[in-house]
Amino acid sequence: MRAKLRTSITSKRFWGWAAAAVLYFGAAAAAAEFTWDRAIDALAEAGEHRLDLYAASLKSELNRFETTPSIVARQDSVRALLAAPHAPPESLHAVNAYLEAVNRDTGSLATYVIDREGSVIAASNWNQARSFIGTNVSYRPYFKDALASGTGRFFGIGTNTGMPGLYFASAVRDAGAATGAVAVKISVDALESAWRMPDEAAMVVDGNGVIVISTVPGWKFTSMRPITAQRQRAIEASQQYAGRAVDPLPYRRVDEWSRTAWLGRFPDWRAPGRGAEYLVVSRPLPEAGDSLMVLQGIAGAYRQEHLAVAFVTGAFLIAALYGLYAGQRRRTIAEKLKSQDALRRANDQLELTVAQRTAALTAANERMQREILERESTEQRLRDSQQEVVHAGKLAVLGQMAAGLTHEINQPLVAIRTLCDNARTFFERDQPAQAISNLARIARLVESMAVLTSELKAFARKPDVERVAVSLGEVVAHARLMYETRIRDEAVRLDVNIPPGTMVCAESSQLQQVIVNLLGNALDAIRDAEQRIIRIEAAPSDRHPGRVLFTIEDSGSGIAPEVLAHLFEPFVTTKPRGQGLGLGLAITSRILEGLGAKIQGANREDGGARFSIEFAAATSLRAEHGR
Ligand code: ADP
Repeated sequence: MRAKLRTSITSKRFWGWAAAAVLYFGAAAAAAEFTWDRAIDALAEAGEHRLDLYAASLKSELNRFETTPSIVARQDSVRALLAAPHAPPESLHAVNAYLEAVNRDTGSLATYVIDREGSVIAASNWNQARSFIGTNVSYRPYFKDALASGTGRFFGIGTNTGMPGLYFASAVRDAGAATGAVAVKISVDALESAWRMPDEAAMVVDGNGVIVISTVPGWKFTSMRPITAQRQRAIEASQQYAGRAVDPLPYRRVDEWSRTAWLGRFPDWRAPGRGAEYLVVSRPLPEAGDSLMVLQGIAGAYRQEHLAVAFVTGAFLIAALYGLYAGQRRRTIAEKLKSQDALRRANDQLELTVAQRTAALTAANERMQREILERESTEQRLRDSQQEVVHAGKLAVLGQMAAGLTHEINQPLVAIRTLCDNARTFFERDQPAQAISNLARIARLVESMAVLTSELKAFARKPDVERVAVSLGEVVAHARLMYETRIRDEAVRLDVNIPPGTMVCAESSQLQQVIVNLLGNALDAIRDAEQRIIRIEAAPSDRHPGRVLFTIEDSGSGIAPEVLAHLFEPFVTTKPRGQGLGLGLAITSRILEGLGAKIQGANREDGGARFSIEFAAATSLRAEHGR
């Protein structure tokens, strides 16, 4: 699938590049052709302008000399000379002088008079070494034409001088008949040098196809047309080119451009031995032979063409670079999108993992909650069975107590036995008063033993009793009544602050026992203190709603440190023998446990002890009045 996709992308890319290549070649070719056409058209137009200019200059040059032969031909001295060929030397000299003057004034090469037979009889160069005088020009077309039609014109090379020139001739008439002719030869050097341009050639081709005026000296008197045998004969007859061999100009037509212009390959006049292409613009020029031509180098057109191709290439290169860049950019964006996609997928995966982990955690949490609930219920079950255990524990404690009790009971028993023995002796001695006193002491001992056993009974009793609402205030008032004498005698200040109607969940007689115990301990603690103050308070608990906090504080010396940790254990006491068994707080805490209340004992910061009990409030229960 992927390979197929890649193949399709590759072939798509190939066709894209192929289309771009075709487009490039098409555009380059069109640009080249367009630029070439325009450049050549511009050259052709420039050539036409040049031709206008050269034709005009040539014509003006011809016009300048055209009339000279006919004017000279009208001169009487010239006509007279022709009429009488054997005239005296003075007249010949006069004509020669005249011709010399005319020739100088007009700036022509030579001006001369030809007789009917074609012999030059007078000439401007009469006194020069290469004088025309005596030369026969009867074969020259200009002479023939002048005799035949009145005027003649001809490009040729002088047979005497070997100098090329343009010949004009005009017939000399006498009574309507031509007696001879006057000819003027002019140089075209001036024209040639005026027309000479570095990148251009200008030339005039005569009727034979031979170049007679040329800005390229080497091309002069070469032929642009193949010369036929008949023509060759005529040329030889006219001595037009002074017997010179007329070579063909080695050129080749490459392309026709328009009616007047064509492209040709010519020898390069600036670099001999090499060829170059030129645009040839020509026009017929009957006044001076056959045609006028201008050759212009086309290197500029080639340059423009190359420039256009280079421009198109540059544009395509830029477009291709841009294409590559855009492709690269597209690929980068695609890759970025792909990596973003991968990131999103990774993120999704992460979220999934997190969700799974969260679910696992939630499950673990739920499991833990269940375990907590199980533990709580186990704890509840344990607590439920705790009372049983406590009860069993009490029995165990009872064993411990037995040892203590043995000591406690043995002493009065030993005393009783002694007292009994003594009483019997007193009776036998008839001392009844002492015997009765002994009996009274026995009775007191027995009574104290009874107290001990009753306390033990309370300790051993199962505290599982029916709880009712008991008025705390009443229970406290009852306990106060019990210690009324001590309170008064020992000048104890007892402050009780229990809001009326404070009801707790308890059993009346047990609660009574608790309060009496605590009040008794407090009274014991303050017995030797300077200030004897006991404060009893009760209020709804701040921390535990639905519970009542009961406190009893005293201004005594506080709980002894060694006792503090074992306060509620049995037989822990600091009191002298006979005053305390160390069972009061142990019994109290067990009673309170049975009532579902909790006792704590601590020392106050400003001295003295504080015992606090948290009762279950029993506002809704029916109040059970204290006994
Ligand atoms: P007993 O009163 O027979 O000693 P208790 O269990 O009532 O037995 O008390 C144990 C001990 O706790 C006492 O001997 C005493 O040292 C200490 N105690 C109890 N109440 C107070 C109190 N209000 N102030 C100081 N010590 C106290």
